Amino acid sequence: MLPDVWKRYFSEELARRDQAKLTRKLRSLRHMGSTKVQIGSHEFLNFSSNDYLGLTGDLRIAEAAASAAGRFGWGTAASRLVTGSSTLHTKLEGEVAAFRGTEAALLFGSGYQANLGVISALVGSGDTVLSDEMNHASIVAGCKLSGATVRVFKHRNCDDLERHLNGVKKGRVLVVTDSLFSVEGDAADLPRIVKLCERFNALLLVDDAHANACLGKRGRGILEIQGVNGQVPIVIGNFSKALGSYGGFVACDEMVRDYLVNHSRPFIYTTSIPIALAAANLEALKIVRREGDALRQKLATNTAFARTKLESAGFELTGNYHIIGIHASSPDEALFLGSEVEQHGVLVHPMRWPTVPEGQNCLRVSITAAHTEDDINRLAEALKKARNSISRKKTDGLTRRVSRRPTEQQLEMMTAPPVDDFDDFENLPGEAMMSAADSSRLPPPEQVAEFSEDAALPASGDTMIAEQGFPGNDKPTAPVEKTSEQAPDDGPVPESAIETPTAPVEEEIQEELPIDEPEQALPPVEAGGSGATLAPEAMELADPVIAEIEGGTRKRQRKTAKHKKSEN
Ligand code: PMP
Repeated sequence: MLPDVWKRYFSEELARRDQAKLTRKLRSLRHMGSTKVQIGSHEFLNFSSNDYLGLTGDLRIAEAAASAAGRFGWGTAASRLVTGSSTLHTKLEGEVAAFRGTEAALLFGSGYQANLGVISALVGSGDTVLSDEMNHASIVAGCKLSGATVRVFKHRNCDDLERHLNGVKKGRVLVVTDSLFSVEGDAADLPRIVKLCERFNALLLVDDAHANACLGKRGRGILEIQGVNGQVPIVIGNFSKALGSYGGFVACDEMVRDYLVNHSRPFIYTTSIPIALAAANLEALKIVRREGDALRQKLATNTAFARTKLESAGFELTGNYHIIGIHASSPDEALFLGSEVEQHGVLVHPMRWPTVPEGQNCLRVSITAAHTEDDINRLAEALKKARNSISRKKTDGLTRRVSRRPTEQQLEMMTAPPVDDFDDFENLPGEAMMSAADSSRLPPPEQVAEFSEDAALPASGDTMIAEQGFPGNDKPTAPVEKTSEQAPDDGPVPESAIETPTAPVEEEIQEELPIDEPEQALPPVEAGGSGATLAPEAMELADPVIAEIEGGTRKRQRKTAKHKKSEN
């Protein structure tokens, strides 16, 4: 039973949000490949995901997970420092380091946990963190958890950063910034920030989550584009955006990795990611190593086409890359535009406070390599129609129209489709679930049929998503000096919320459309899938990734032996 005082608190808090048109609702979606989702009986073109290279629908990644899960099971049941560290975790860290061009890497459960775990370990009481005012919520949370003094510099403003650096009189200094900002798609000026950090002996942490794998010649994100790869000592990234999977990492020097293994509480005291997830992430990296050039080229072409199309239609766009912000004059207008665009079968996420600072309401469009020209044309048409309805109705009409968004009951229907709806869903052939672009990656139909009959897949492919994030209720743990003018915060960086204990902010902003179950039919798991276990040695030999590692190790051993021989 909820105590009365808490009941009152929850209901007042929810009513307050409702009144301000800031309530968020969860919806249940059915993911159909990389670019399409179904809500209720309606199909939508998805321009709201972070699946920048279109890999969430790539069955090779799902197969790698299924195959590893069949051999090693799902859970690891221990933290990395106890018995949760497998050869695949270590192998994945090596691959991440090679991919990002650093000495080492360390895995975290998610990008959010990586920011939390790294920032809170690097600085503490007596130190100072300087953080861009639009940084992601997970950076804000890491700063708070650290106990260091947090100062917020104006968005992408290196003069303001310099002023703050000049003002720090004691303790160590950490500068943190997103590379590609998650809502407006604008980039930090990393070369200048690098120089400032060198001048002031400040440590620099850059979160490259939205550019990792999808920008730069080798996929090293904004750091590579701006020519500072190798000059940023600590890089945060994740597997859940362009890599189409799940999990987070920090890429850094060996020494920093060792330090984090010993100091990062969110690393030390949590269970390691499933081995099968490590296998999936290895596969995603392999695909990007082999096919990344073509996918990045496609993403760049799609981005240029979408930007030209929208600009020539008169939209004012933010940023330069695949995340495009389209300005809305109020939260109402953002909601209205989002809802109008939905009427035309396109999903584009409206961004309101606290996801963005007040007054910076917008629609966040994200372009992916899996979109087609037709998709982008449909997006532009839907946006134009939405804008036309706005100019027809204008302000007070807006409110009326917004109230035509789904009612509570309608939302509930969307969240809990009738049972036979699920049955239909289960019986859909794999191809029907995939976009045209993805269908080439499907296994042959016989295999699909065989699998859906024989394998014990979860009953539904539904995935819960936050329509717009969630309310939080965080109490500041560290003093924050508000020295710059700040926007009310959260999401992508509402740092001012840190200072306003009453502000119930902290929301997992933008996105997300986390894929938590494979919706496409998967090929059968080859061994051990039905609970059968193999002897450890047999498992190792049977696993192609392990075999590869073993092969690599043996090769390295031979090389070392040869080297030693020649030294002698
Ligand atoms: N950093 C940034 C810049 C983000 O936008 C996000 C989430 N979108 C994260 C970190 C958190 O990553 P994850 O979803 O892997 O927790």
